Amino acid sequence: MKKIVEFIQKIYNTKNFIPLHEPKFIGNEKKYLNDCIDSTFVSSVGKYVDLIEEQFAKKVGSKYAIATVNGTSALHISLILSDVKNNDEVITQALTFIATCNAISYLGAKPVFVDVDLDTMGLSPKSLKNFLQVNCEIINNVCINKKTNNTIKACVPMHTFGHSCKIDEIKEICDNWNIALIEDAAESLGTYYRSNNITKHTGTFGKLGVFSFNGNKIITSGGGGVIVTDDENLAKRAKHLTTTAKVPHKYEYVHDEIAFNYRMPNLNAALLVAQLEQLDKFINNKRNLALKYEELFKNYDYIDFIKEPKDSKSNYWLQAVLLKNIDARDEFLEFTNKNGIMTRPIWRLMNELEMFKDSQYDDLHNSKYLEQRVINISSSVVI
Ligand SMILES: *Cc1c(COP(=O)(O)O)cnc(C)c1O
Repeated sequence: MKKIVEFIQKIYNTKNFIPLHEPKFIGNEKKYLNDCIDSTFVSSVGKYVDLIEEQFAKKVGSKYAIATVNGTSALHISLILSDVKNNDEVITQALTFIATCNAISYLGAKPVFVDVDLDTMGLSPKSLKNFLQVNCEIINNVCINKKTNNTIKACVPMHTFGHSCKIDEIKEICDNWNIALIEDAAESLGTYYRSNNITKHTGTFGKLGVFSFNGNKIITSGGGGVIVTDDENLAKRAKHLTTTAKVPHKYEYVHDEIAFNYRMPNLNAALLVAQLEQLDKFINNKRNLALKYEELFKNYDYIDFIKEPKDSKSNYWLQAVLLKNIDARDEFLEFTNKNGIMTRPIWRLMNELEMFKDSQYDDLHNSKYLEQRVINISSSVVI
């Protein structure tokens, strides 16, 4: 393990503490931020918000993009737009970051957890289909969970660490069962998925897709998020709901429903415009790093480096390894962290957390396997 520590120290050219993922501001960040401050439009309106919405939609190939204050709020609004209400159910994976489940819970809805695939670490179409066949039926065009009598309104798969799940198969199942598909693409900006020889950006397969620009994501606005969709009505509703439902008027303040102040401030958008310019460079850098790690871990028969799954061209946002036995995992975590290299285990499964322990879930076989073995290792862009 000493060799692994030395390898990482050499890559980052330091013997000091190496964080898991730190942002890099090596482009036009200061220029645009200064320009934004000079303009005095630092808050909820301004040219950088318009710019980022336009550029982001273009980048991922969606018709519309609506910038938000963070990724969680983008998920919250997307669930509202999918008609998720109190006591409805939303299928997602137990192996995810808490934000996915928090957003579902804000609406009084309940998450239902389905297993992930081992190769993608994202929602398994096979498990999804099986869950629906065993537990659900379509009555009057809605999907009813026979165990609870609640309606399953939406499904939120997540592209773990920037590797695409089998989103085309998931979409087909959701379409067959009248379930709205919202992609939690918070981690997968720059990741493409190939299906039937067509390559599309993750987050653009579903009715709505959500991205995050938190400080630890592949690019950051400090805090921020975005909703993407091809549906003009949904895009308009998303903008309206995230901007206090203010009816456009030169000077009158009229609001036509209870809504949210979920706007991304112009200051954050300025930072994000500069970061988006560097996305391709960051991804190349991370994909190179992944190749180096792949070589390194070939020397260890008890460690597998996690590579992009078939059909996914991944952004490698967070690099990950799988330790084949649990004692080795603990030893790896201890040794690296003790030697100034931050590493951390994958998330606890959501159904193990106090708030979600009464949720419905399937056997979560693969989720449990990965939960006990996967570790994230140094993933910052190397400069
Ligand atoms: C980062 C992240 C989010 C959104 O997080 P915010 O901090 O609210 O921007 C949502 N889901 C997943 C899986 C994430 O990793």
